[in-house]
Amino acid sequence: MLPSRQFIELTQPEIAAQLKANPLVIFPAGSVEQHGPHLPTGTDIFASIVIGEEVAKRMNGLVLPACPFGVTPMHMPFEGTITLTPDTYMRVLTEVCVSTAQHGAKYLLIINWHEGNIASLAIAAEALHREHGMSVLTAQACYVAAEIFGHEMGGLTHGGEIEAHAVLAYRPDLVHLDRIGQSSEHGHGHKWDKLRRTRSFQPVLTDIRTIAPTGWYGSPEHATVDKGKHMLEAIADSIAKEATDIFRMLDEAQGGTAEIKHFRKAS
Ligand SMILES: [Zn+2]
Repeated sequence: MLPSRQFIELTQPEIAAQLKANPLVIFPAGSVEQHGPHLPTGTDIFASIVIGEEVAKRMNGLVLPACPFGVTPMHMPFEGTITLTPDTYMRVLTEVCVSTAQHGAKYLLIINWHEGNIASLAIAAEALHREHGMSVLTAQACYVAAEIFGHEMGGLTHGGEIEAHAVLAYRPDLVHLDRIGQSSEHGHGHKWDKLRRTRSFQPVLTDIRTIAPTGWYGSPEHATVDKGKHMLEAIADSIAKEATDIFRMLDEAQGGTAEIKHFRKAS
């Protein structure tokens, strides 16, 4: 039994044995960006780390050390935001995962909670599969949360109830429900979020203030630690179940470990 699911809390022999037992690594993807006066700037990466940990327990995997940064130029008008360029972010993801592949990792599950990362993750994920032989799956955890809890928690909004619950499940001391103030108008925020999340038409926005002039919107005042833990369990159950099924399908479709053995011999 592993003492931890976190890669950087383990020793070399523990990691070597674990990659032999089950060569699955999980990469948490998020961002450092303003989330209003009530949530920490690490909200998105904290969500991915805590979900990654729960999924790792369910799937017997290892959580790679999280890169806190993501691609988030949209939030730069507000202090508290730090962004990488897509190119830098893709290189970080690729080089971290290629290192683990060289030590035997075969399955990569990316757990992402930040929409601004999606395009970069897709390009890097494709390269990790095609050029480095990993079986790769990305779970857009914030959308999984919205699918399961959007109805009861006011939808997926920047700084709203779903995001507050994600941090409450990880570090309740970082959530300041007593400091909530100045949510932007809900109808306006939902209209713009809906527009940028449609499948057929994809407008490019430069500034979060187009969606939410105060930087955030939603109703996090109803969030509690218990509801956050319940949300976390449900999201982790859903991702673990889907990911297990999808990795099995990828194995069947791609020759699975045979394809990767071929790659390892060639490298
Ligand atoms: Zn967020």
